[in-house]
Amino acid sequence: MKNIRNFCIIAHIDHGKSTLADRLLQITNTVTERELQNQVLDDMDLEREKGITIKSHAIQMEYEHNGETYVLNLIDTPGHVDFSYEVSRSIAACEGALLIVDAAQSIQAQTISNLYLALENDLEIIPVLNKIDLPSANPEEVTDDIVDLLGCDPEDVLRVSGKTGEGVEQLLHTIIEKVPPPVGDPEAPLQALIFDSVYNPFRGVEAYFKVVNGEIKKGQEVQFMATGKKYHADEVGTLKLKQVEKKSIKTGDVGYIISGIKEAVEVKVGDTITSVENPAISPIDGFEEVKPMVFAGIYPVDTEDYEDLRFSIEKLRLNDASLTFEPESSAALGFGFRCGFLGMLHLEIIQERLEREFDMNVITTVPNVSYYAYTEKHPDKRILVNNPSELPDPSGLNRVEEPYIKASIITKSDFVGQVMNLCIEKRGILKNQNYLTQHRVELIFELPLAEVVFDFYDRLKSISKGYASFDYHPLDMRASKLVKVDILINAEPVDALSALIHVDNAYGIGKKMCEKLKELIPRQQFDIPIQAAIGAKIIARETIKALRKDVTAKCYGGDISRKRKLLEKQKAGKKKMRQIGRVEVPQSAFLAVLKLN
Ligand code: GDP
Ligand code: MG
Repeated sequence: MKNIRNFCIIAHIDHGKSTLADRLLQITNTVTERELQNQVLDDMDLEREKGITIKSHAIQMEYEHNGETYVLNLIDTPGHVDFSYEVSRSIAACEGALLIVDAAQSIQAQTISNLYLALENDLEIIPVLNKIDLPSANPEEVTDDIVDLLGCDPEDVLRVSGKTGEGVEQLLHTIIEKVPPPVGDPEAPLQALIFDSVYNPFRGVEAYFKVVNGEIKKGQEVQFMATGKKYHADEVGTLKLKQVEKKSIKTGDVGYIISGIKEAVEVKVGDTITSVENPAISPIDGFEEVKPMVFAGIYPVDTEDYEDLRFSIEKLRLNDASLTFEPESSAALGFGFRCGFLGMLHLEIIQERLEREFDMNVITTVPNVSYYAYTEKHPDKRILVNNPSELPDPSGLNRVEEPYIKASIITKSDFVGQVMNLCIEKRGILKNQNYLTQHRVELIFELPLAEVVFDFYDRLKSISKGYASFDYHPLDMRASKLVKVDILINAEPVDALSALIHVDNAYGIGKKMCEKLKELIPRQQFDIPIQAAIGAKIIARETIKALRKDVTAKCYGGDISRKRKLLEKQKAGKKKMRQIGRVEVPQSAFLAVLKLN
């Protein structure tokens, strides 16, 4: 145990976590030159393209230092706000954290929010200034920022480049010297903290854990304390580049277990594994059930694909426990599924995976958060509303509550005014304003989650010219004056476009939605009115003027192959279209409300 070091890397997106991890694996000979494809820790294609580590993993390295062999467990943490609970559990499995700060970008929102998590868990923090090879690096100034933030000495800030490998050897020495070995009781009943799980189609779900007390053995009967389920430990082992089977994993070490579990939902991040024979009295603190934060309907473009879509979503759910779904129907779109996501990024990932991995053509409806509604008749009875169309009739409605978040925004002081204006426009309440350094300000706002789901992040980026970062945590539910804004296309209400909007913004947003839809829906043979309504009251209207000529008309007399090409092109375009009454509506229109500005 005294030669084990468990650590994670915390960093803002793109500050070089994955690159540095690669370098550590290379220097410790955990991967050979040949095996080292770039960023081995990010193994999903999609993940690599998005440049973020979606799923946390763990990898074990061995390293000789002063004549002793050390076991270094690097626990990777996801880098996006949607996954902050998973980050917190990964951090809880460590004794130390490398705090990576890009020498050109300095401290950003995620640097801070992850740092707080690490401090809450009493981790030893090793500050690392990364990317010192960059010509635009600003090592002196950024070191000052780190010193201000942590209260450490400037000499404590290591200077490395994950790219060239400079300073990385020294970093390994520092990890061994500064990160304390795990503490735990090898004689106590087994308590292993699950910090991640991965679905393997051949072997079932692999759970990754850290043994906090006791020992986990192959062949043992184990119980997962939160779910209460019992399993046989078919295999345990440690994670190198590949899995290495072991007879047992002892106190303080990190490993995996395979126990015949078929679905990701059975393995809950934060749960405790104990022994059936000699169970622990209590689980490890900090377990939470992750709840979806954002909901949207997913519908097949072609109604015949409904069963295929169900099959595909079920498959995705096998390895993604945080995705929820249930069948729903829409007057406009027919049969589909109401899916729950951790956040907008998660939604985008699922939509893309459905399209790429399952070749599905889907329409995603306007996302919304989860509301609580209370009726006049039963003002104490909470009704969960995951779809605006489920909102009880407004005349009998007592109140509606919506989720609030605590947001931390870090920006250059020059942009504070604009960022504040944006947050206030989004119904935010300023709670605090901290000058982290002379030029860098942290704003703490309480905001309705729904306002953040809609185009908040893009606008923040644009008003701050990219110099603002953002992180949030759920707070509570608060009563708000929300109304349901419906959209009618050619006089038909399209339920999939309905949204709950704060009464003060309803007119403005209704108007913008009509304008946006007018832009997105192609002109057809007849005039198409687009209306926004609250109940029976029309609040905005636009008209898409009829096309004057048949599109193929200009081909008359021309050669037939040109006409065929045009028709084929139209057909391909239609694949992404959905028929609403007599009107063809492109897939993009359903997400239009997200990009109104
Ligand atoms: P992550 O999002 O924190 O995992 O960051 P990545 O490791 O994916 O790196 C983000 C970008 O920064 C990539 O384009 C890397 O090639 C680049 N990068 C990472 N480390 C360094 C470094 O030390 N020097 C330079 N010049 N670029 C780096
Ligand atoms: Mg990465």
